[in-house]
Amino acid sequence: MRMIDLIQTKRTGREHKQSEIEYLINGIMDGSIPDYQVSAWLMAVCWQGMSSDETAWLTDAMCHSGAVLDLSEIGPLVADKHSTGGVGDKTTLVFVPMLAAAGIPMAKLSGRGLGHSGGTIDKLEAIPGFQTELSIEKFIKQVKDIGMAVIGQTKELAPADGKIYALRDVTGTVASVPLIAASVMSKKIASGSNLIILDVKCGRGAFMETEEQAIELAETMVAVGHRLKRPVTAVVTDMEQPLGMAVGHTLEVIEAIETLRGKGPPDLQELCLELGSLALVTAGKCKTDVEAKAKLQEAFDSGKALEMFRTLVKTQGGDPRVIDDYSLMPTAKMKREFLVPGKGTKWVQHLDGRKVAESCKLMGAGREKKGDAINLAVGIVLRAKIGSEVQGGSAVADVYADTEEQYAACVKKLEEAFTFSDEAVDTPQVIMSTVA
Ligand code: URA
Repeated sequence: MRMIDLIQTKRTGREHKQSEIEYLINGIMDGSIPDYQVSAWLMAVCWQGMSSDETAWLTDAMCHSGAVLDLSEIGPLVADKHSTGGVGDKTTLVFVPMLAAAGIPMAKLSGRGLGHSGGTIDKLEAIPGFQTELSIEKFIKQVKDIGMAVIGQTKELAPADGKIYALRDVTGTVASVPLIAASVMSKKIASGSNLIILDVKCGRGAFMETEEQAIELAETMVAVGHRLKRPVTAVVTDMEQPLGMAVGHTLEVIEAIETLRGKGPPDLQELCLELGSLALVTAGKCKTDVEAKAKLQEAFDSGKALEMFRTLVKTQGGDPRVIDDYSLMPTAKMKREFLVPGKGTKWVQHLDGRKVAESCKLMGAGREKKGDAINLAVGIVLRAKIGSEVQGGSAVADVYADTEEQYAACVKKLEEAFTFSDEAVDTPQVIMSTVA
């Protein structure tokens, strides 16, 4: 077999055999296929797509490029949730302790920022001491002991995804349905959970900008899961504008803690309850959505979910005092307002999630290249979102910056991110559709 033939097969829109996909993944793993040929093939996939057979074979081969965990010693049910990437998405920080408090063990493998989107692992590193690299043995033991663990991608699980992911990030080949589906599902299956909830983001802040694309991605991942014998449910959710109000690492950890206290923004709270109730009903722990949401609400109201988060932080080496003293996390040097232009009453007509992400990236909150250090302190906290009524001259966001230059760059981008209307505007729905 020759890699050039595989590239030409895909470039001309023909289908691969399973043996060809296995050849490709083996070649990536043993280094016999150079990055430039893999990159050419990735670009061909972006243009020509993949059949459902090819996507399932690619997922399977990537999954078996490393260890596939057996979590049966934890118990009959272990859950995982994955978001396809967005802006201000701190759902995992709430979802993991919330579900653990409701009695569902959570073995969560998370990522760092990719492209314009933020990553849970980077956010957790705003908590001093928090260890996101655990050995597989420690990961499993922790889920057994305290009912949850959140770690970064390890070299042992789906290592082919690690290599392909790094190439996609620098070759403009992230936004492809089969490549995202295989990337997400290979990791989810390798990490051994048997209850997988996918949060497929849709809109300007996501990789899938239209609802059709997001539904196609959700259906592809659910189909791959079923073929590889893992039950998967996907929810398509709005990511036109950021989720919640905070964007930036420390700021998002603070918002997640406030949500665990029951004081979070309504869209984040609604999303966590929706995804959580789906998990409880699918797991057979609750009969109805209403019963499940009541159980989860109780986990917030009783303080149990927040205590679970404290346990998670402590167990993974983090400083649990941050929960009561946010100043122990990296803190920006200045806080400035971003104002609504003009005078009189207006409504926020549109808020572009991608531009908000870029406004934070300009202050150092994201990476330009792999391995770059990021500024965990900077970011923005919105005071208004699409549909909010605002007054000209009042603040619609607080900018947390370290320098005047950062603040100026952020404001310039925020001016592009916000659009205002003189007429009332509807608030968008958070939950768009469910695919099972
Ligand atoms: N998240 C992943 O894990 N992989 C992708 O390709 C995109 C989002």
